[in-house]
Amino acid sequence: MNNALTTKIRMYRLHELGDCFLLSFNDTTSESHVLIDCGSFRNSNASSKKFKEITRDIRKIVGPKGIDLIVATHQHNDHMSGFQHARKDFESIGVEQVFLSWLDDENDALALDIGEQHNKVTRRLQSIRGRLKSDRRKELAPIRMALDEVVDERSFEIDHSFTGKATQFLKEVGTRPVQYLRPGQIVKVPNMSEDLVRIHVLGPPRNYKDIRSTNPRKGESYDRHLSSILFSIDELNNALSDQRADPNFPFNDKFKEKLSNKKNWSKDTLAQWKDYNKESWRNIDLDWLSIAKRFALHLNSYTNNTSLVLAFELVKLKKVLLFVGDAQAGNWRSWDAIDWKGDHPLDMDTLLRNTVFYKVGHHGSHNATSKKALDRMTHEDLVAFIPVNKKDPNLTKKNPWRMPAKNLYKALDKKTKGRIARMDEGKVQRKKNNWKARSLKVDPLFVEYTIKD
Ligand SMILES: [Zn+2]
Repeated sequence: MNNALTTKIRMYRLHELGDCFLLSFNDTTSESHVLIDCGSFRNSNASSKKFKEITRDIRKIVGPKGIDLIVATHQHNDHMSGFQHARKDFESIGVEQVFLSWLDDENDALALDIGEQHNKVTRRLQSIRGRLKSDRRKELAPIRMALDEVVDERSFEIDHSFTGKATQFLKEVGTRPVQYLRPGQIVKVPNMSEDLVRIHVLGPPRNYKDIRSTNPRKGESYDRHLSSILFSIDELNNALSDQRADPNFPFNDKFKEKLSNKKNWSKDTLAQWKDYNKESWRNIDLDWLSIAKRFALHLNSYTNNTSLVLAFELVKLKKVLLFVGDAQAGNWRSWDAIDWKGDHPLDMDTLLRNTVFYKVGHHGSHNATSKKALDRMTHEDLVAFIPVNKKDPNLTKKNPWRMPAKNLYKALDKKTKGRIARMDEGKVQRKKNNWKARSLKVDPLFVEYTIKD
């Protein structure tokens, strides 16, 4: 049959946190291969080896023509580090086009401004971390750890030099110039007819407020108890990223008595100080520093929120594949207000109603799938893919990351009639009967889903 389109979506199994998806579109006369993200959280030798296996597989699939399109959603290692680990392999496979978000565009004034604000927050947290280095109080350990994870240059996930290098590589590797996407654009997949496949760009929003807003409001999350923990973060972040001139934050100098000045204190002040020190609840500095920990975590969420979000429309089939990277609440919330620029726009209701493949946001965390949006994904063929592995050390440690969040997982399970594919094979097999015949292939290296009609 003329123009019959086959779409294959291959989720590579990193056996740790990390996204790497290969989409292959084939209409019998032409084919196009799109790689969305390729990264690992740990960046260990095992991860590096895995990328070798993955690029070998990609080379086999795409052949001498190379990869038609690479999409990198946001600057976290678990989405980008593979481009650095396996850069030689990607170079030799060949890449035609790269899509990045407008936030990676060095000629975009708003992107530069947001980048500068982000750097300021990072620098501030780094200076707090520096000051904490010599303070070995036990109570500070979790704060120190959170800061280490987020703003330490050498940390796995946020090594800026590492993701920076990967981004730079992606800016240079394509035979065509990089395209920086903005919400509202409708673009074609290279080497594939736009009568068959169109990409609708949903995020990241071109609006500072939405990017900063990372937590769900009332009714936007399935796991409300988790969102309420982070209730005040957005406000705190606003306060910190403001151009505060006050170096004495949180307290002005005139309200402070310097300990180094103690020998000059009056008898009263000294007595007061001794009294205060007897009662630990009066030690306000610890409370203040725990806010620094929250900021550190928030900085992470903020980067998630810069995710490039793409809806691939399979035009003739009236079906949509939704790839949201790690987009959080503000990114999801912005989509309904998009002012569509290209030909053949579709409203958000249609895009969500026609979604048959959902790449679950942020490895299934509670604030990266909007309840209001998932409620509107009503297609009977809906399946969900979660790049998460229950054996990942982040999910087995004492205070595990809640991935996937329990109530979200339940909702997905119901919506998809059990058709959830995770990196851990067992979970896929358990619900195998609900998948269409031959639509799902489970291999040690990948899980692949095929859409034909
Ligand atoms: Zn991620």
